[in-house]
Amino acid sequence: MPTGVIFVISAPSGAGKSTLIDRIRPLFPDMLYSISYTTRAPRNGEVNGVHYHFVSEDQFRKMIEVDYFLEWKQVHGNLYGTHAHPIIEAFESGRRMILDIDVEGAKEVFKNIRKAVGIFIRPPDMETLEKRLRLRATESEETIRLRIAHAVEEMRSASIFKHTLVNDDLERAVQELASIIRAESEPGNGTPH
Ligand code: ADP
Ligand code: 5GP
Repeated sequence: MPTGVIFVISAPSGAGKSTLIDRIRPLFPDMLYSISYTTRAPRNGEVNGVHYHFVSEDQFRKMIEVDYFLEWKQVHGNLYGTHAHPIIEAFESGRRMILDIDVEGAKEVFKNIRKAVGIFIRPPDMETLEKRLRLRATESEETIRLRIAHAVEEMRSASIFKHTLVNDDLERAVQELASIIRAESEPGNGTPH
C-alpha cells in the first residue's frame, strides 16, 4: 500500500506560516491541508470550514471525549485540535498533506506518525516578528504580548524539526519551502522529522 507524506509546519505566530502556505498551495494542487478545530474567534476574512472549523469550548471538549483528535493543545489561551481521520486517510492512500500546528502539537504528531516531516519557519529576528504581528492588526495588545512571549519558547524547539527556514524575503522563502516539499516527496526520503 502506498504511504503519503505528512508535512508538519510550525512557526512562532507572525513568522508568516499562513502566508507561505497560501503561496505554495497553487504550486502543489494535489496537496491536502488539515483544517484544524479551534475555540478561537474567527478573524476578519476567516471562513468557517476553510481556515478553521470554529467551535465552542463545549463542542471541543465533547470531541476530545470521543477521541476525535490526533492531537490537541491549548495555544495562547484557545484550544486547537487536529482531526485524526483525514490524516490517517491521506497517509494510507499515498497523498501529501500539510498540518499547520504549534510546536507542542508537532511533538505529539511526531510520536504518532514516525515518518512525518517537520518544517520550522523562523522570522528573521524578534523585532521583525513583533512588527509583522502589529502590521497584521488582528490581535489585541495583550494577545500580541502573549504570542511574542510564546515565540521565544517555540524558537528553542526549532531543532526537533528536520528542516528550518527563515522567512525573510517572501519570494525566496516560498521557493525554499517548495524545494523542501519536492525533495521530501521523492520515494525513500521519509526520515525522522
Ligand atoms: P502566521 O501565520 O505565522 O501567524 P502570517 O502569515 O499571518 O503569520 O504573517 C504575519 C504578517 O506578516 C502578515 O501581515 C503577513 O502579510 C506578513 N508577512 C508574512 N511573510 C512576510 C515576509 N516575508 N515579509 C514581510 N511581511 C510578511
Ligand atoms: P492562530 O490563532 O494564529 O491561527 O494559531 C495559533 C497557533 O495555533 C499557531 O501556532 C498554529 O500553528 C497553532 N494551531 C493551529 N491549529 C492547530 C492544531 O490543530 N493543533 C495545534 N496543536 N496547534 C494548532
